[in-house]
Amino acid sequence: MSHVKSLRCRGCGSDYPVEPLNVCEFCFGPLEVSYDYDSIARSVTRESIEKGPATMWRYDDFLPVDRKDAVDMGTGFTPLVRAKNLGRMLGLDRLYIKNDAVNPTYSFKDRPVSVTTTKALEFEFEVLACVSTGNLMGSVAAHGARAGMKTIVFFPASLEKGKIVGAAVYGPTLVALEGTYDDANRFCSELADNNRWAFVNINMRPYYAEGSKTLGYEVVEQLGWKAPDHCVVPAASGELHTKIWKGIQEMTDVGLIDRANTKMHLAQPEGSSPIVEAFRMGSKQVRPVKPDTIAKSLAIGNPAAGPFALETLAATGGTAVAALEEEIEEGIRLLAETEGIFTETAGGVVISGLRRLVNEGKIGRDEVTVAYVTGNGFKTIEVVEGNVRPVHSAPNLDSFEAAMEAHGA
Ligand SMILES: *Cc1c(COP(=O)(O)O)cnc(C)c1O
Ligand SMILES: [Zn+2]
Repeated sequence: MSHVKSLRCRGCGSDYPVEPLNVCEFCFGPLEVSYDYDSIARSVTRESIEKGPATMWRYDDFLPVDRKDAVDMGTGFTPLVRAKNLGRMLGLDRLYIKNDAVNPTYSFKDRPVSVTTTKALEFEFEVLACVSTGNLMGSVAAHGARAGMKTIVFFPASLEKGKIVGAAVYGPTLVALEGTYDDANRFCSELADNNRWAFVNINMRPYYAEGSKTLGYEVVEQLGWKAPDHCVVPAASGELHTKIWKGIQEMTDVGLIDRANTKMHLAQPEGSSPIVEAFRMGSKQVRPVKPDTIAKSLAIGNPAAGPFALETLAATGGTAVAALEEEIEEGIRLLAETEGIFTETAGGVVISGLRRLVNEGKIGRDEVTVAYVTGNGFKTIEVVEGNVRPVHSAPNLDSFEAAMEAHGA
């Protein structure tokens, strides 16, 4: 049973009915799903959750839709991997990687999209749409296919081939737009006003955002019902960072855990780091930038949830760090070579951001630290292609030995 009370404005607190709405008509603030936490507290226990499916849907009491209706491809409950090798290199004894690169469409976006597609069917939409920095469109196209909906996805034409091909295969209408993601987003807001479409990250955004909370619940459960000391989260719009924290806080609100003293850190690529910039200036507002980064999944210059990410940083004592552009590939390789996990550029940003946080003394050796790996490396192979230098040999011993010697292997 859903425990949703209303949509509530994050600016002025006005309540709205549970409809496809995302903006307050009084103050233009974003709307967020609000719940009856007493009712959730009465219906969930650690045992009831542990008896649920091994997917994100084990937490449906905290979501705006029931799992019996879910458009569910088996998303979530992904591995929390103890990273001893990487930890040893960085000087951390209790480091974990939350490997969300193994979801059905290979990014964490399957979580918010699974929730939104379910809600879109409940609202009787026939068309599912989104504007994407890359991973979202693959997830929307897959869920749309599964739900039997017409699907249309908008994206900046400059995205990586792996992301475009990986969305096209599900049969959506693809619209490549000139310009940046922020240009595309502005245009899509106009389209959302003029069409009866379930625009996943526009008119459906309040429901979409809720799906990311499951990345908080899972980590707490997987650590044995304990909140970590540190989370390191990649940020584009800043929504994921804020919602992981909302999820962890909800677990204390309903009594599943006693307390959470988690520091919520955030990482952006240097070439698209407006939230980090605002954090450094001590500002509560984010000044938009024009992104220029190889981490295209994080290339949002005008982040919708930027101010909330800044609040989350302040409330938890977290730090915002930027990874230098040339460190991103290093981060990808470091994670692959130490832990056998192949992440995309966003994960490279997180691993180099983590290294910075340790070097700056923000994370102590014995503190429980979780780095979120949110997307799969096979979608951005162009970034690591330069490392491919095979030994070329004919299939006989003489040629092989000569080739190996020439290669210095
Ligand atoms: C979309 C995305 C993010 C950032 O999400 P926001 O909620 O917009 O901050 C992080 N990592 C990957 C791989 C993404 O695709
Ligand atoms: Zn308002």
